[in-house]
Amino acid sequence: MSKNILVIEDNEQNLYLVRFILEKNEYKVFASLNGKSGIELAASLKPDLILLDIQLPEMDGYEVAYNLRKNPDLANTPIIAVTSYAMPGDKEKAMEAGCNGYIEKPINPDTFLSKVEEHFITINHPEKTI
Ligand code: MN
Repeated sequence: MSKNILVIEDNEQNLYLVRFILEKNEYKVFASLNGKSGIELAASLKPDLILLDIQLPEMDGYEVAYNLRKNPDLANTPIIAVTSYAMPGDKEKAMEAGCNGYIEKPINPDTFLSKVEEHFITINHPEKTI
């Protein structure tokens, strides 16, 4: 069965590229253009993985991640921050907000898929307790 991936991303070009790469590899892609609708869609969809842009209008990605983790249904869902922020400490900030990983923009089509798929292998261990 193909896995569902929710992409929360306000930039249409990035969304297009991410969707293209993932759908080509038989993932089912759902998308939200802002944090609020992303949180709602995540709650109903319970996706296998969430790709989360950090630079979003109104609610930024850190706040979105924090809110996603408050939902027990999503406590173990891999959340990968996707961001062009290159400041020291941003990765740590994303992790503290509840993200499991971090992919830097611009998205590299040659490595993007493997970086996403790492999280299906490394995160789905039942070692995490709520
Ligand atoms: Mn953005």
